[in-house]
Amino acid sequence: MHLKIAVLPGDYIGPEVMSAALPVLEAVLKKGGHTLEHSTHPVGGAGIDAHGKALPDSTLAACQAADAILFGSVGGPKWEKLPPKEQPERASLLPLRSHFRLFANVRPGLLPQALLETSPLRADRIASGIDMVCIRELTGGLYFGAKSTKEIAGGDIEAIDTMVYRQSEIERITDVAIATARARRKHITLVDKANVLETSVLWRKVVAARIAATAPDITLAFLYIDNAAMQLILRPGQFDVVLTENMFGDILSDEMAVVCGSLGMMASASLGAGHNRYGKPFGLYEPSGGTAPDIAGQDKANPCAQILSVALMLRHSFGLEAEAKQIENAVDRTIADGIRTADIASGKASVGCKAMGAAILARL
Ligand code: NAD
Repeated sequence: MHLKIAVLPGDYIGPEVMSAALPVLEAVLKKGGHTLEHSTHPVGGAGIDAHGKALPDSTLAACQAADAILFGSVGGPKWEKLPPKEQPERASLLPLRSHFRLFANVRPGLLPQALLETSPLRADRIASGIDMVCIRELTGGLYFGAKSTKEIAGGDIEAIDTMVYRQSEIERITDVAIATARARRKHITLVDKANVLETSVLWRKVVAARIAATAPDITLAFLYIDNAAMQLILRPGQFDVVLTENMFGDILSDEMAVVCGSLGMMASASLGAGHNRYGKPFGLYEPSGGTAPDIAGQDKANPCAQILSVALMLRHSFGLEAEAKQIENAVDRTIADGIRTADIASGKASVGCKAMGAAILARL
């Protein structure tokens, strides 16, 4: 297989963790007899500095020509004074999501036994570890519905956000959840607010019908968002695949990341409606965290989230399951061997970003 990847490291720790991840990608592909063609392009603040635009035309063109996008993270204090619409995240990541119709965000929440002490949760709540995946709808709902702010009678001000979902949007994200659950413990929890929201009532109806018609092997449970937020803290081990709409997923997946210890470990995949040359979903793969300006330039960042994003890319956009597993196993073994960056060291000895990347590479 010949893989064409657009590499967009972004800002602050973005280039640092990307530098640790690329050798891992190159090594695993070489081992499997595959070839790699990748080119690096500025995005976010780096795009603004180089081309006056967070998503330069040349960067977008490179993404269009690629089979998948490997993304770092964007934004930071340097560009904070720009008008909101020109800010790195809003002006690069959101346009990329809409341009490539990246409707499904897949975020694994994994707390391996070796890292139990990094979770803020009490030991007895996580004794059996945490292994779940959040499937968040990414291009619909409240964030993309009609918005307005206007002055109304009596000098009062009214702001409106609209939550809209169509059956077809719910069906396609349900299919992603079904495929994910099939490769795991075959259980989906739909998180909604069906006691209050019309859209949630539709979600329940459509998801239940889709699973009954196409996936009788999958079990389905329903949970209101307020209860789900509590259950994630009380008994996180009960979750396998969590399926939810855009805003609930935004909040819940961050809660999921924090119960699993460090943002530095959390990878994510945003999958599109379009397909690449191999007939697999075109996707954007990135760490769940941001640019961590507080530790940037000090060789302190944890590169695992970026490296695990490479594994997700190989699995989802290329069907290279064996190569994805090899990377995940190399990360597991590195951690099991006691090699940790500061964010997951629980106060014990730690290594830097470069050494962590090299240790993972060595275990491949
Ligand atoms: P952040 O995720 O960058 O940092 C939060 C905390 O987690 C910090 O203490 C940081 O040091 C730590 N952290 C994050 N990634 C880490 C890693 N790989 N290794 C070790 N520690 C890590 O969130 P923030 O501080 O709120 O945001 C900083 C900037 O990142 C902002 O400009 C924000 O807009 C941007 N951001 C970008 C994305 C993205 O590109 N997808 C996502 C979130 C935030």
